[in-house]
Amino acid sequence: MRIDIIAVFPEMFEGPFTESIIKRAINKGIVEIGLHNLRDYSTDKHHKVDDYSFAAGAGMVMMIEPVDNCITHLKSQRDYDEVIYMSPDGEMLDQPLCNQLSMKESIIILCGHYKGIDERIREHLITKEISIGNYVLSGGELGAAVLVDSMVRLIPGALGDETSALSDSFQDGLVSPPVYTRPRSYKGWDVPEILLSGNDKLISEWRMEQAIERTKTRRPEMYENFKKS
Ligand code: SAH
Repeated sequence: MRIDIIAVFPEMFEGPFTESIIKRAINKGIVEIGLHNLRDYSTDKHHKVDDYSFAAGAGMVMMIEPVDNCITHLKSQRDYDEVIYMSPDGEMLDQPLCNQLSMKESIIILCGHYKGIDERIREHLITKEISIGNYVLSGGELGAAVLVDSMVRLIPGALGDETSALSDSFQDGLVSPPVYTRPRSYKGWDVPEILLSGNDKLISEWRMEQAIERTKTRRPEMYENFKKS
């Protein structure tokens, strides 16, 4: 998978992309990530990428031209399946959307800043808009990092144990059952006896019961859908 990210602060990805699973996926060649500083695509001598809003007092807005220049440059190198804009009013990111996007060959992610981006970019250059939640971030970089992490860990080979993504929360319409590790007892806090029984069938039934019970209490709307399926 190829991911190109357009941002005003590309340095913000240092950290999220240089550790753990994403780092390993990059090193294994499972994913290639290109970071593009929007300022490099500005024709202005001060590398300006934003300007005053036509609505008085609304704050600065990201201009069309640098974004268009950058996307045009990227598209001259390869075809893209999606040009995504991170936006608080976009489609809510959830596990089915992560699964769907993780199967794409190549995507562009545009991170907004300030008051947002000129609406004409959204109308003419963007194919999909994604939100990571009903709250406002200062910029799209953190949202893009969340999106990339959630997609990359699903690409076969990214996780050490490939089956582990399948047993994570949301993959089967349920949240994950609780997990434990050694010691069996800590300060008198005991691991449920059944997990120590060695009986795989009973353990798997227990895990399913726990997942259903947790979904019922923590995500009632998800439980309603699970019951219907
Ligand atoms: N004025 C806009 C918010 C701009 S916030 C509004 O009220 O809708 C600046 C940038 O941060 C946005 O352009 C977007 O790229 C990013 N952003 C903010 N909140 C986000 C969210 N919940 N999900 C994804 N991106 C978000």
